[in-house]
Amino acid sequence: MLNIGCHLSVSDGYEAICKEALSLGANTFQFFSRNPRGGKSAPLSPDDVKAMEDIMQKNSFAPVLAHASYTMNLCSADEKVRDFANRALKEDLEKFENMPCSLYNFHPGSHVGQGVEKGISLIADALNQAVNENQKTIVLLETMAGKGSEVGRCFEELREIIDRVNFKEKIGVCLDTCHVFDAGYDIVNDLDGVIAKFDDIIGLERLYAVHLNDSKNPVNSHKDRHEKIGEGYIGLEAITRIINHEKLRDLPFFLETPNDNQGYAEEIKLLRSKYI
Ligand code: FE
Ligand code: FE
Ligand code: ZN
Repeated sequence: MLNIGCHLSVSDGYEAICKEALSLGANTFQFFSRNPRGGKSAPLSPDDVKAMEDIMQKNSFAPVLAHASYTMNLCSADEKVRDFANRALKEDLEKFENMPCSLYNFHPGSHVGQGVEKGISLIADALNQAVNENQKTIVLLETMAGKGSEVGRCFEELREIIDRVNFKEKIGVCLDTCHVFDAGYDIVNDLDGVIAKFDDIIGLERLYAVHLNDSKNPVNSHKDRHEKIGEGYIGLEAITRIINHEKLRDLPFFLETPNDNQGYAEEIKLLRSKYI
């Protein structure tokens, strides 16, 4: 079975979001770990978490993915922003130890003129402060489009971060199809080549999730504008090859396409029909 879900917002708790995912034909989902505008994250309700566990188990959910807020920049040049990011990362990881949510994804960050080397070292330092040997959550670095001063615009940069982390077995990667295409990896004409490169530089054993998005822009644009499935430059044929690729097909796929719930339900249905 294709493991697929979409980005949903947690407004009424985790039981409600699981039911919402099911109603869309999904068997997983992604959600923001906290309000993207920052601030304290809401405390967990044990009853709600229990209900979430039950639904996930009964319906054979794939791993659910928590996405850190976009404002969490571990390699900002501003110490206050960095401190906030470090605290958010730690708090988030503590929170998810008490939830049936084993994947936590974040944008490595933007070095804002400090240089990619400095960015990589700040990100690795933050991970070494926050990640512990016994946690169950795997922390995923997202592949980025290379907009502005984003770190993680190529596989080598992600590899360099991982190399500097102490508990490497707790670190993985989430591959965003729009972002890698934007970063210059031609997953339309050379999917096998891109996957081989990923394996060579990072290792496929570190790939835990895929953000499945079409792109409003051609390969190598560094723009990061997601498009609906089949309506962008990646296209339905290439996306069909991605979900069916032998090295990817068992991973959880998460849609972050510009859709309302009705649109997500249609994309999920379409992609399930294309999964062989
Ligand atoms: Fe993201
Ligand atoms: Fe993404
Ligand atoms: Zn994006």
